[in-house]
Amino acid sequence: PVDRTPEVQEARLKLPILAEEQVIMEAVRENPCTVICGETGSGKTTQVPQFLYEAGYASSGTIGITEPRRVAAVSMSHRVAKEMNLPTGVVSYQIRYEGNVTSDTKIKFMTDGVLLKEIQKDFLLQKYSVIIIDEAHERSVYTDILIGLLSRIVPLRNKKGMPMKLMVMSATLRVEDFTENQKLFRNPPPVVKVDARQFPVTVHFNKRTPLEDYTGEAFHKTCKIHRMLPPGGILVFLTGQAEVHGLCRRLRKAFPYRRGNTAEREDGETADDMKKFKKTKHKETVSLPRIDLDNYSALPLDEGDEDREAGIGDEEDGDSDLDLGDDPVGTEDKCDPSIPLYVLPLYSLLAPDQQAKVFRPPPPGTRLCVVATNVAETSLTIPGIKYVVDCGRVKKRFYDRVTGVSSFKVTWTSQASANQRAGRAGRTEPGHCYRLYSSAVFGDFSLFSEAEITRRPVEDLVLQMKDLNIDKVINFPFPTPPSFEALVAAEELLISLGALEEPPRSGRVKEMQQARLSCPITPLGRAMASFPVSPRYAKMLSLGKQQDCLPYVIAVVAAMTVRELFEDLDRPAGSEDESSKLAQRRARLTQMRRLWAGQGASLLLGDLMVMLGAVGACEFAGCSPKFCEDNGLRYKAMVEIRRLRGQLTNAVNAVCPEIVLAGLGDHLARRVQEEELLDPKWKNGYKTPLLDDPVFIHPSSALFKKLPEFVVYQEITETSKMYMRGVSAVEAE
Ligand code: ADP
Ligand code: MG
Repeated sequence: PVDRTPEVQEARLKLPILAEEQVIMEAVRENPCTVICGETGSGKTTQVPQFLYEAGYASSGTIGITEPRRVAAVSMSHRVAKEMNLPTGVVSYQIRYEGNVTSDTKIKFMTDGVLLKEIQKDFLLQKYSVIIIDEAHERSVYTDILIGLLSRIVPLRNKKGMPMKLMVMSATLRVEDFTENQKLFRNPPPVVKVDARQFPVTVHFNKRTPLEDYTGEAFHKTCKIHRMLPPGGILVFLTGQAEVHGLCRRLRKAFPYRRGNTAEREDGETADDMKKFKKTKHKETVSLPRIDLDNYSALPLDEGDEDREAGIGDEEDGDSDLDLGDDPVGTEDKCDPSIPLYVLPLYSLLAPDQQAKVFRPPPPGTRLCVVATNVAETSLTIPGIKYVVDCGRVKKRFYDRVTGVSSFKVTWTSQASANQRAGRAGRTEPGHCYRLYSSAVFGDFSLFSEAEITRRPVEDLVLQMKDLNIDKVINFPFPTPPSFEALVAAEELLISLGALEEPPRSGRVKEMQQARLSCPITPLGRAMASFPVSPRYAKMLSLGKQQDCLPYVIAVVAAMTVRELFEDLDRPAGSEDESSKLAQRRARLTQMRRLWAGQGASLLLGDLMVMLGAVGACEFAGCSPKFCEDNGLRYKAMVEIRRLRGQLTNAVNAVCPEIVLAGLGDHLARRVQEEELLDPKWKNGYKTPLLDDPVFIHPSSALFKKLPEFVVYQEITETSKMYMRGVSAVEAE
């Protein structure tokens, strides 16, 4: 029996899913797998685990729920614990580097990556009685693979007399890939639909579509809503953490909220937080965006289309008083600072206690304004939102099919996603959605986000699966399978790269072919699997790390993946006069390229060396447009390479400590803490488990100026001081 407070009980009864409890639990009892579809906010994530708990499923094992995003795993576990009046040791969460799971845990929220790793350790997932795959509509690769795996695990468990249930939950009705796929489930699982109590949302399109400054546009629109429209929360969708913070700062400045007459930040964002943020911001502008290696669950790819011409289609949709129209540039934005706006950021990596604020009512007399990334699209429901401002874009992991490199890019979202975002405005009363793009641009969005698996390079995916010890990828029951040819080609490539074991060369042709399709992964393959680039480049990065030339390899990989780096020298000349000028330029640029190609051994690297030389020279010259113009380099390409280098460096650094750590785990050192400073000489020192006295980072080390919290080292040598040699930073997340 669950002992809920009257307030919680009352709130629960308002959720549409409560009316379906019986139907859902009956379906679960009678079927190994059940699909639940219900609009965001209908109560799937918070209530279904409770239904299962009350029906006794926690007595035979843990109830596990996977989320594609960490933010959802953490905040939903807190919410359910609170609703059930149970400690977090019973309703817990586990994300990659942290969690509060105990031996008493009955309901466990986790990221899909965490469950995949658990399957690696115990294929039958014996400690679980139910697994719920949440947010299945996102069709992240991990979710798809999990459903494929579980479609086999569940019958196996039943056969062994330890029955287990699978539930798949989706915010959309588009679930045929799960229900009508015979290879996946021979008997189609029942689908329980939960009726959403959705209020009408009026959608207002911009006439113009800002191509660059959509955050500026979001600012103007939010100001306008706040100054001109009736009470109700505002939810702004942007694409990333830096954008979110930028807009929060602008809005707070425009509509400061002060309690009493102190300037204290009501949201509890302390000076410390700001400092931290400034630091990360600074880090971001210098070392470029950090790749989140835990997050393989970015939404499926849509074609980025940012070079679109502005202003196509000028019709105005909707015509109510609340239609703010496009913002005229200029005077309109002199905001009235007397109206308090309670501005909160929301994104995946935000600290849980900060995230929790969006669920609490805003201080009286203020208007809530949440500036969020995609997390607010379906994972989290923020109460009291009446206005949505949608930039129409999303940041996604993007795989270049030609080059195989993955990076995060901002692209247009899909129509389905844009509609999900709009729907956030109609949870408690009729609402309004302001789209910062024209209806013509919307018309060009793809209808749905496609399953990520069909757009991902397959060799990458095959390597990931082999890393999970799924050797016969070809037999795998994908909800949406990649093509057979693609899978065969992927295995061949991975064998040739040394990522998979070479199959034995005996037996008949057919057996050999079979063997070639089920090769296990090698240790090199495991290292490669951890880099966010396609296997070819991952191999280069692995070797680069081994051979101590990582920065060069990264520069080369970045350069190779950006097309049309160099000005085309074979361009035909228009006129006679132009022809002689062109010949001159051609001669000069050819000379530059020869220079970049270097001499001696480096010549063997050929074109790659030219690229490397160009990147180096350009970087040395500060990557200026003039340098590029003078030397026949495409400025945009060089900027892109710079961005990619930043991403790859961060990614490899984020992975390498783990690889390095595998060998140097006992050579771990932690910076001497404030309270341990027994002697002023210990300042900037590091404590190791082996020595009483601290050791230091040598001034010649790349990390001397950084002084990370944790490092691993190759060895300690004593010269003028005890110095660590071969130091690498270890990020404690
Ligand atoms: P779904 O998974 O179907 O999108 P949820 O179970 O996440 O729905 O949410 C159900 C309701 O619970 C929503 O109306 C939401 O506002 C509310 N809710 C969820 N988390 C919290 C929280 N941390 N604090 C307050 N309300 C919450
Ligand atoms: Mg949910």
